[in-house]
Amino acid sequence: MVADFRCGLVALVGRPNVGKSTLLNSMLGQKVSIVTPRPQTTRHTVTGILTEDRGQVVFIDTPGLHQDGKQAINRYMNRAAAGALADADVVVVIVEALKLTDEDEAVLERARSASAPVGLVINKVDRIKDKAKLLPFIKSLQGKADFAFIVPLSASQGENLPSFLDELYQRLPVAGPLYPEDQVTDRSMRFIAAELIREKLMMRLQQEVPYGITVEIERYDEAERRTEIDAIIWVGRDSHKGIVIGKGGGLLRDVGSAVRQELKSMLERPVHLQLWVKVRDGWADDEQALHRFGYE
Ligand code: GDP
Ligand code: MG
Repeated sequence: MVADFRCGLVALVGRPNVGKSTLLNSMLGQKVSIVTPRPQTTRHTVTGILTEDRGQVVFIDTPGLHQDGKQAINRYMNRAAAGALADADVVVVIVEALKLTDEDEAVLERARSASAPVGLVINKVDRIKDKAKLLPFIKSLQGKADFAFIVPLSASQGENLPSFLDELYQRLPVAGPLYPEDQVTDRSMRFIAAELIREKLMMRLQQEVPYGITVEIERYDEAERRTEIDAIIWVGRDSHKGIVIGKGGGLLRDVGSAVRQELKSMLERPVHLQLWVKVRDGWADDEQALHRFGYE
């Protein structure tokens, strides 16, 4: 460990879908937080730990701060994001290149009240053909807060990630590591398995159905020759059960094999996965059910 080893918490905040989870996974070089093209995929804070010779960066991926907080689950998600903001040594606000919405403005407003330094990441620059258009966009953002740094990058293409990391290290306190150097996340494989199931479902379902789903792992056993997992997919409405199962069980079968494949390569061993679909009316607005399903 070098004498000026640095370590601290970096909160990734932003409206849904700007690429927070993608950025976290890219920084770590592996998937710890699920990603889909849908907003509000991330529901829990997920910690990703990057340990290098010069220090340890503890990233906190947050559910997007968003405004429609009608159900208990939305309030939970907003609380989780706000908590990460309060604890952080550096707050990173993420926006999409050339696209600033009212929701982004609301996030910037929240970030301005953070006591930690606030950096700005302009993500998805790979989509911008004419890079000259970025400059006026960056200029228009400069006045929005007293940013410690502004970094344009592409989380999915891995563009400009090293300069982002350098900016973070400059603002982390000199301190020993918070986690063992081989630990990549605070979340268990059990949690990641449940999230992967939800990810594959969200990618295949339409309209409001994906938002009404939560996954509970009933059994997770490291058996001698394979990992054995039984999971329940909870839906909030009777009519959603058939949709999740799909015609002739097709959708559920697809989801199962996609999850199995990804888990197998993560764990480097065979995976036996069984999925059930069950109905719990209105779980997303039921504090007791939320508690049981791990939203706390
Ligand atoms: P989050 O809701 O902020 O966590 O966003 P996600 O990480 O789930 O990403 C939302 C969508 O944006 C996904 O479809 C990602 O593949 C996509 N995305 C994320 N980063 C980039 C990027 O740098 N470039 C492009 N083109 N797409 C990205
Ligand atoms: Mg996310």
